[in-house]
Amino acid sequence: GGPRDADVSIRQTDVDAAGARLSAVQRNYIRDPFIRFLVPRAHLQSPRPPLINIGTYVRSAAIDELVTQWLTLSEKEGTKCQIVSLGAGSDTRFWRIETGPHRESLSAYFELDFPEVTTKKAMAIRKSKELSAVLGDRDAVHLEHGGMALHAPRYHLLPVDLRLPPTQALAPLFSGSSSPPILSPTLPTLLLSECVFVYMSPTSSQALLRWFVDYFSSRSEAGASVLGGVVYEMFGLGDPFGKVMLQNLKSRGVSLPGADPYPNKESLPNRFRQYSFTTSQALTLREIRTAFIPSTEQERISRLELLDEIEELELVLEHYAITWGLKVPTETSLSADWN
Ligand code: SAM
Repeated sequence: GGPRDADVSIRQTDVDAAGARLSAVQRNYIRDPFIRFLVPRAHLQSPRPPLINIGTYVRSAAIDELVTQWLTLSEKEGTKCQIVSLGAGSDTRFWRIETGPHRESLSAYFELDFPEVTTKKAMAIRKSKELSAVLGDRDAVHLEHGGMALHAPRYHLLPVDLRLPPTQALAPLFSGSSSPPILSPTLPTLLLSECVFVYMSPTSSQALLRWFVDYFSSRSEAGASVLGGVVYEMFGLGDPFGKVMLQNLKSRGVSLPGADPYPNKESLPNRFRQYSFTTSQALTLREIRTAFIPSTEQERISRLELLDEIEELELVLEHYAITWGLKVPTETSLSADWN
């Protein structure tokens, strides 16, 4: 296949991710009342192996915790914040935040993905009472760009190709009649990238990050604010097990562009450090599972399904990491809480 076939495989990874999430919900690993409205009918009954369910659980618990901390910090600062999800796919986080205790701290939530994916999601939202109800009044929800984009008061679903130069790729964050731009340069903003950067070249993902850094830096004319980042990704693909994982992806038609820029855990925080983030840290899913999941939860999880490939589980979890960072502009009046 040519490059377009390759993109089909990349988009297909979202159907996979949503199916894995639904499987973890159905087996009681995690709670998510919204995901079933975003999974194609044919995939509603496709349980994943325990190893995948546990991986989904650990990743989801960790990212939920980081996002909750972010929202709580905004509350403490008495400000509202924005969240931008790159390659959001069928993620349900917006709906979970909007129906949770921190909804008031959210000013706007942006989801970016390929037009094919956003069109499908916009349709699923329109079709589901449960998803639509959370967006607010029907009159305040608009489809645009022939159904590829959807705008609600606090939710924006935007068609993009993140591999394009950032000013082009991110144009939908500024387009339309809205002035000021829909992405405010003066509100604390959290970037989420779950399993997405791996599908583009390191040059593209770095250019994206750099663009956000500039937009929210105090040097920018537009304004300045705190920028947070959470990246979930595979890494260390050069070792023997990493090579097996790469091979697996290849067999599903996904080949990764460019060399793995982060060969080990120590190098992961460089994603943020190279742009002078104030803090930047990384943990593997294996570390998170053993050191950060409360023991009551570990016990509960261990009773859900029988898992006998514990060594394989640890090998897999060791090749996924969550990296997060915060960049506080130098001329900010915000308190030290952000650090
Ligand atoms: N973030 C979601 C999650 O964690 O459930 C979806 C992850 S899925 C593995 C990867 C997503 O990234 C897909 O929805 C895919 O379409 C999107 N994606 C990959 N490359 C992209 C690009 N160049 N532009 C826009 N979206 C992209």
